[in-house]
Amino acid sequence: MNVYDSWRIAAMLDARGYKSTNDVADADIIILNTCSVREKATNKVFSALGRIRDAKKPSALFGIVGCVAREAGADAFRRMPELNFVLGPQSYHKLPDILENPDARLLNIDLGGLEKFDEMPQPATSPTVCYVPIQEGCNHCCTYCIVPYTRGREISRSFDDVIRDTKYAAKNGAIEICFLGQNVNGYKYTDKNGNEFRLSDLIRQTAKIPEIKRIRFTSSYPTEMTDDLIEMFATEPKLLPFLNMPVQSGSPDVLKRMNRPYSLDGYLEIINKLRVARPDIQISSDFIVGFPGESDSDFEQTLDIARRVRYINSYSFKYSPRPHTAAAIMPNQIPENVKKERLAILDSLLNEIQHEFNNSCVGKTMQCLYEGSDKTGKHLIYRTPYMQQCVVRGTPPDGEKISTIKITAASKASLRGEFAND
Ligand code: SAH
Repeated sequence: MNVYDSWRIAAMLDARGYKSTNDVADADIIILNTCSVREKATNKVFSALGRIRDAKKPSALFGIVGCVAREAGADAFRRMPELNFVLGPQSYHKLPDILENPDARLLNIDLGGLEKFDEMPQPATSPTVCYVPIQEGCNHCCTYCIVPYTRGREISRSFDDVIRDTKYAAKNGAIEICFLGQNVNGYKYTDKNGNEFRLSDLIRQTAKIPEIKRIRFTSSYPTEMTDDLIEMFATEPKLLPFLNMPVQSGSPDVLKRMNRPYSLDGYLEIINKLRVARPDIQISSDFIVGFPGESDSDFEQTLDIARRVRYINSYSFKYSPRPHTAAAIMPNQIPENVKKERLAILDSLLNEIQHEFNNSCVGKTMQCLYEGSDKTGKHLIYRTPYMQQCVVRGTPPDGEKISTIKITAASKASLRGEFAND
């Protein structure tokens, strides 16, 4: 989501004649887009701002946008008086105000809902993989999560607006569409005539756009994985056979305290249905270890679910207490050394499973998306339908963004392949 926000901010400045630079000392405006999901990232923001302040030219404007901006608010100006602007994740479309009035400080951390989408100009070009947000905020209120505070309550964008953005992206170079939302599979929009639209409707409509060859969405909440959406995996070949569906923990007790009230049996049943619909589907997950009160046996159950589902490409984190969340003040907070140890154990299991999956790909052919060349310029980088990176030698067929690649070797982190028709 932050990648998307940064892209739109850059496009907004681009439309006003700004060009990007990698040199802070050369910049006229410097914008730090920030994430506050875990404390570590938040802590880095003010030290990074200090470095920017010392390196930038005196006339350059600088500020923060995103969730740390929303969380810090006016306090950001107290901590860093030289800052020019502080804009939350739903008010970064106000950025041009500071360009018009550079001597005034700009603070806006309102939760404006969908206003930003109406006010921002459409970007001139689209990346090959284009993110399309379909929803803002989240209503789930997991007890560890700061997102409902920083991005507000859940609102779905209108079906027509999303399809308009998708068609625009297709016309301007997009091959793959990734629908975005904190609770993306909970997308629900009712139009003036009372017609209800779900994520499955967006997928079906997007699959009809000839330029779009691959569709995916992130991130999903398990109980919103309804049958209409599962069916899409059977009927829409453009929908990639890969789904991030975070389980977070394998312990029913921990899940209850996380306020994620699904049963593990129900969760596994959804995965079974997905595998029936699309036998080659693979699942990835997010995990949190060391949630308050997590016992050794709770943690064992997390390892157990990872072994049972055999997740690929997962993300795992140490629990990080966040302001405005219920879990931060729960008893039995887990000591840092225990969290660290559990994370290392889980990571090593997840890596082992991922390596095993990568090995199982050797000898197969896959339709892969061209991403660009590597630093040496000798290798081409492709992305498989499972989001693995695949390194290929040779020249890509003229102008073709999607190629059939035969996988020839695998490591823990990536694959090697060759053009299948060579
Ligand atoms: N709705 C998104 C949430 C984005 S945060 C989603 O379901 O993915 C991405 C991941 O960060 C979450 O899935 C969770 O695993 C992790 N996370 C969120 N809050 C956290 C916290 N306080 N400590 C550690 N990890 C956290």
